Amino acid sequence: MSTATTTRTYGLWINGEEVDAGDGATFDVTNPATGEVIATVAKGGDADADRAVAAARAALEGKAWQRMGATARARALHRFADLMIERIDELAELESRNVGKAISSVTAEIHGAAEVLRFFASGVTAHSGTATPLGGSLMSYVRKEPVGVCAQIVPWNYPLMMASWKLAPALAAGCTIVLKPATYTPLTALMLGRLATEAGFPNGVVNILPGPGSSMGSYLVQHPGVDKVAFTGDTETGAEIMRLAATDIKRVTLELGGKSPNIVFADADLASAVPSSVWSIFYSAGQSCEARSRILVERSIHDEFVERFVTTAAKIVVGDPLDPATHVGALISEGQLATVDSYVAIAREEGATVALGGERLGGDLANGVFYAPTVLTNVTNDMRVAQEEIFGPVVCIIPFDDEADAIRIANDTEYGLMASVWTGSDSRAHRVAGAIQSGMVGINVPYTAFPGVPFGGFKKSGFGRELSLESLDEYTEDKGIIFNTSPRPIDPFRLG
Ligand code: NDP
Repeated sequence: MSTATTTRTYGLWINGEEVDAGDGATFDVTNPATGEVIATVAKGGDADADRAVAAARAALEGKAWQRMGATARARALHRFADLMIERIDELAELESRNVGKAISSVTAEIHGAAEVLRFFASGVTAHSGTATPLGGSLMSYVRKEPVGVCAQIVPWNYPLMMASWKLAPALAAGCTIVLKPATYTPLTALMLGRLATEAGFPNGVVNILPGPGSSMGSYLVQHPGVDKVAFTGDTETGAEIMRLAATDIKRVTLELGGKSPNIVFADADLASAVPSSVWSIFYSAGQSCEARSRILVERSIHDEFVERFVTTAAKIVVGDPLDPATHVGALISEGQLATVDSYVAIAREEGATVALGGERLGGDLANGVFYAPTVLTNVTNDMRVAQEEIFGPVVCIIPFDDEADAIRIANDTEYGLMASVWTGSDSRAHRVAGAIQSGMVGINVPYTAFPGVPFGGFKKSGFGRELSLESLDEYTEDKGIIFNTSPRPIDPFRLG
């Protein structure tokens, strides 16, 4: 197991500089793969949130940011992406050590994040309002104006990627930002703050504020200086944030949990469907909102699929995240592992069979938080393990009888984020894709996140979309402007 070589101290990133928390508080950050403390980080409190929001508001109204039109913001976003790629080795190692995630995965995520910055850099220059003739001498046009100061709250499962997905459209649209990373994983977000400043964004445009979500995060969400809240994380936390933001009618977008179905029909090409289904749940140790955690398999191929799936999943290399050969690293925390393990116990109580895994990994991995890829069979969709988001390397395999049954089971969930469909029939693929209640559907592909394709949920998976050009609308207000092109006097009551 590769071990940490340095322990660094990180400040908050406010107004273009690294600063201590006002009360001097700090917290330790641990590598979940080794149990070692890898950093000490300033712990933002309410007074620091005040400072960060004040910096963001001053930047919003400041000349430097006002002068930076869409093309200049686009140039800075491209520079931001360039810097990310120039520093990719450093960022990837930091992310891997902080999240416990495989270095190959985080490297791919950083490349993807840079592409998202570039996508919005290009997109914003074409993001303009329409002009509409209103009849006679009246005309109108729409101005796209930045929403204002945005509080962006991100989780620990993809810290750099989630931060980039949120920063990119907000910066492109001309907003200023206070981004709160998860307490487990603040390190790469803090580096992004520094890189954004280096890329040319004026001081105060990007502020990074680690600190406890339940106290400082709640305070930030309710802050009168914040105009919009964008959140990714747990559905219950999202509901709480929506309540907190409601008082001031703040704009809110939420990207929440999932229990996404992966539907395999008997005519599917199993050479793709099996390894892709394995990846779709076990990537990132199952700690993904879009993890396909329910595999629905047509009954006639159920046993063959299970056998091939278990054999393939057993080949996953779980281990040292810094080893390029590792597929899957650690879970984020002992608490997360305890949750995962408790769901496996619940599955057994509910009558499911543990066909693979179902236990913590020891040996060389005993100091870290590692859990075996776990496959549950004999699951019915009403079981808790098929309904609740486990957020770990645990998949349920459930048989179905026909297309209608597959759609019924797929939609029998309170979530609606992602789905995959595996079939040899094009017409069925598109029919099923249309019938599933989810924000995204993959047909014979496991992949989910591409710049240009809206990412977000139906039902309790949230609302608002990331990654597509329409996300720019989540960060702008439309202002309709009506004007008269005729010199003739306007006299609505005909009084003159
Ligand atoms: P949370 O959703 O609670 O945390 C996500 C982010 O929100 C973190 O930055 C957190 O800060 C912050 N936060 C928490 N409470 C508040 C609040 N009241 N106001 C403002 N910000 C807040 O997830 P957890 O980390 O607690 O994980 C719990 C469960 O959530 C997991 O087991 C998993 O099931 C699910 N989850 C789902 C994710 C998804 O993408 N769908 C992502 C992460 C978790 P802090 O870190 O300081 O608590």
